Amino acid sequence: MIIIKTPLEIEAMRRVNRMTARVRDELAAMVRPGITTLELGNAAFELVQKLGATSAFYGYHGFPGHICVSINEEVVHGIPGRRVIKEGDIVSIDTGLAFGGFIGDTAVTVAAGEIDDKKKKLLEVTKAALDAGISKAVAGNRLGDISYAIQTVVEAAGFSVVREFVGHGIGRDMHEDPQIPNFGNPGRGPKLKPGMTFAIEPMVNVGGSKVKVLDDNWTAVTCDGSASAHFEHTVAVGATAPEILTLT
Ligand code: MG
Repeated sequence: MIIIKTPLEIEAMRRVNRMTARVRDELAAMVRPGITTLELGNAAFELVQKLGATSAFYGYHGFPGHICVSINEEVVHGIPGRRVIKEGDIVSIDTGLAFGGFIGDTAVTVAAGEIDDKKKKLLEVTKAALDAGISKAVAGNRLGDISYAIQTVVEAAGFSVVREFVGHGIGRDMHEDPQIPNFGNPGRGPKLKPGMTFAIEPMVNVGGSKVKVLDDNWTAVTCDGSASAHFEHTVAVGATAPEILTLT
């Protein structure tokens, strides 16, 4: 069942998602060669505390970090640790906050120093795929319209969409109905209504779509070792236009 939020609930979601976006942007600005992923995780903890919020990820199904940091071939769910970010890496930062009874969720992939052209294109295409998906979050469309828009942009660029992980409804819980795959058919699935709130999050690989989870039981990596990017916004379906909640 897809939960429709009241205007008051949407207002509460604006608040937590704006905070989440702020933390995302501050962490993204810290990414540079020489910093460890744990330093980013610790900075996240301090930022979130300062805002009076809590991390929605820490302890979620036992996740041991305050954010997810995933580098290069790591797709999602990287745990902050001793790994040092190097020149030419791409770094995905996924941030989730809890505040006022609601959850905010957003992710961005940024470059550490100079990156090669392939990685530059990957970031551009993944961001464009997210924008294309968000543009379909309008009442009267179907859920599959979002999925199809994302897949179309990614595959037109010769990249592939991760299938094991998907976007999701979000609100009082981080993962609500529906699941939002980054692939699918237009005109299919539930009809979108104002007050639905979705975390839309394409995960895109330069190479094949297959991923596997490392021995830490969390970090998902591409099977072929190719680079992967992840962009995510939390969005409210609008009557005539989508509203991106994770803007600063
Ligand atoms: Mg998410």
